[in-house]
Order: sequence, then structure tokens, then C-alpha cells
Amino acid sequence: MSLVLFGPPGAGKGTQSSLMLESSSMVHVSTGQMVRDAIQNKTPLGIEAQSYVDAGKLVPDSVVIGLIRELLDKNKTVNFIFDGFPRTLPQAEALEQQIIDVTAQPIHKALFLEVPQQMLLERLTGRRVCKNCAATYHVQSTPTKVEAVCDKCGGEVYQRKDDAPEAIETRLEAYEKSTAPLKEFYQKKGLFVSVDGVGNSKDVFERLRPYLK
Ligand code: AMP
Repeated sequence: MSLVLFGPPGAGKGTQSSLMLESSSMVHVSTGQMVRDAIQNKTPLGIEAQSYVDAGKLVPDSVVIGLIRELLDKNKTVNFIFDGFPRTLPQAEALEQQIIDVTAQPIHKALFLEVPQQMLLERLTGRRVCKNCAATYHVQSTPTKVEAVCDKCGGEVYQRKDDAPEAIETRLEAYEKSTAPLKEFYQKKGLFVSVDGVGNSKDVFERLRPYLK
């Protein structure tokens, strides 16, 4: 059973994916993390993607679709959580085809995390991430115990470049233009589920839990 978790930037996709993984044996697929790893490792793909990511723009479909194809071919499983993928209609169409090719099973549900815009801005501007283990914090609601040091692994905690105000604006625009139309795409297929993404992460997770079965 594979699930798509989607929503605007700051909706909590990464946090909820982590909680979902604690309660299931699914494989987490985060294109954002894959792209950040490629940038950190200075691979050709990372070098190509960096300027898009830093500016808050979407990386070209061909790059992301290629990454997913490689990953699906390597992982012999049928249980994936797609976090931040698809983000455009061509990506959704490619995923539909690839997932059948590789796992012989269609996407089970597309879970949309619904969060008001003002809250997205608060979450994104205060977000801090561990460079080492990708644990996420918020300067007000969930700060690290020691400033800029990850509670979990001691790694350096920093603000992503694309969480700067100018990049956030671009990301929200890209979401409205390219990703929001996926709601209708999945509605037409009878896969769309809207989940209230407001509240603490454990409460939001309880709303998602029924779809893990
Ligand atoms: P995220 O961590 O999911 O917020 O993704 C961070 C950044 O990676 C995005 O702002 C895009 O630049 C890039 N990215 C991640 N996933 C995709 C995708 N499916 N399509 C295009 N760009 C993506």
C-alpha cells in the first residue's frame, strides 16, 4: 500500500511522515531530502538543483521523476510514503505509471494536509533543521535544548535557505500554481482525503493513522 502525503510548504509533511514511519513498515520517499542530500554531496544533480531550491522554485520535473524512478527500481517494496512528491501534474502522472510498473499496485490514498496560510508562514519562518539527521525544530514551539545543537544527534541545527522570507513567497506561489491542482487530480480518481493539519503533531497524526491500515 503506497500513500501520497501532500500539501503546501510548512503543512507538516516531513513531521507526519516521521510519525507514520514509527507506526508502519513503509519506506519514506522525500524528494526534498533527496535533493538536499544531492546538494550537500555536490553530485551533478545537486549542482543543477541548488539554484532552484535556494530560490524556492520547483526543480524540473525530469530531474525529480528520474530520481523517483531510480529509487523505485532499487527498493523492492510495495509500501511507500511519498512526501513532497508529486508536486506537479506531470509528476503525478509519472508516479501513477511507475508505481504500477514497479509494485503492481496503485496509489492507495492521497492525503492532503490542510493548514491556513498565516500558520504556514509562522511555521516556515521559525523552522530549524538538523544538518546531520534532518530532525526539525521550531524556534518558539519546539526549540532545541541548546541553541543550534540537535537534541537527538548533537548535529548543527540551521535555517534552510529556502525558509528565508523571499524564498517562502516563491514556494507558496509555486504551490498554488503547480501543486494545488493535484487536489482535483486525486479527487477525480477517488483517492483524495483532506486532513486537518492544525494542532500539535501527535493530534494531526491521529487523524492520519486510520489510513495506515
Ligand atoms: P521540501 O523539503 O519538500 O519542502 O522540498 C524542498 C525543495 O526541494 C522544494 O522547494 C523544491 O525546490 C525541491 N523539491 C522537492 N520535491 C520536489 C518535487 N517533487 N518537484 C520539484 N521540486 C521539488
